[in-house]
Amino acid sequence: RAKASIATDACFYEEEMDKTVRLRRRMVKELRTAIDRGEFSLHWQVQESVGTGAITGYEALLRWTRADGSSVSPANFIPLAEQSGLILAIGEWVLRTACATAASWAEPHRIAVNLSPVQLGHVDLPRLVQQVLLDTGLSPARLELEITETAMIADPVRTIHILRQLKAIGVSVAMDDFGTGYSSLSTLRSFPFDKIKLDRSFMAELNGAPQSAAIVRAVLTLGESLDIPVLAEGVETPEQLAFLREQGCDEAQGYLLGRPGPLPVRGRDGPERLAG
Ligand code: C2E
Ligand code: MG
Ligand code: MG
Ligand code: MG
Repeated sequence: RAKASIATDACFYEEEMDKTVRLRRRMVKELRTAIDRGEFSLHWQVQESVGTGAITGYEALLRWTRADGSSVSPANFIPLAEQSGLILAIGEWVLRTACATAASWAEPHRIAVNLSPVQLGHVDLPRLVQQVLLDTGLSPARLELEITETAMIADPVRTIHILRQLKAIGVSVAMDDFGTGYSSLSTLRSFPFDKIKLDRSFMAELNGAPQSAAIVRAVLTLGESLDIPVLAEGVETPEQLAFLREQGCDEAQGYLLGRPGPLPVRGRDGPERLAG
């Protein structure tokens, strides 16, 4: 009887696997036509100076709403887009749309655009970026590109070369989700980053795990000694912001300051902000 039950479990497991594979295939198929159908849009999330509260920029975050009105999180579809190679077309759409949109804003805020490591490996990025800036008229100084540690590990020599070319154009580069991968002091030193974005998991753990406060302090010290500003992601509470201010963190981003939305507006404007 035990044997039969194991067989049934295995069968059930296989069926579930088939279902997952089918769902993923369907999603890739839908992703393939998403650009043409106009199903992508960008949301913007404010970034600000911890010391002064001044707006320092807006991060562009990709949103996918399918024809039936359902939306899929980028955390779910970006990996699929990367595996299928579709990220190259999608990433170019994001870059163009972000730059064109920002160029039309009344206020010349800086924007941050996420790049996939796949884009770094397969496209002549410096050329693409230069072309997009030319086409949209956005000043290079207004564009920051966010790159995660994965890109550095995959091909460090090539990545350093690309980053240098990008910086020569006049755009800046930020290391995204810092602390979740394998980068060390020497990694940071050898890559010409203009900003370190501390992963939001450290903010989330600030109250619970005492080591998190120590890690945040260590990263701030690291940034200070390398002369690279640090932005803390995922700031949700006034207590977290107060801690960052106390520790001398440069910039912050998170639901407390503003949720991502279709327009570049700050979430804290209004009476509460003035009171706080
Ligand atoms: P990311 O680049 O680290 O972006 C920050 C993510 O944290 C966003 O999730 C944002 O909505 C979320 N977030 C911001 N503040 C808070 C907060 O206070 N609390 C919490 N819990 N979350 C907060 P989102 O938009 O779902 O994007 C997830 C990831 O998908 C991004 O992480 C980025 O890695 C990727 N992604 C988004 N748009 C693009 C894109 O255009 N291209 C590429 N290659 N990746 C993208
Ligand atoms: Mg990012
Ligand atoms: Mg991040
Ligand atoms: Mg992230």
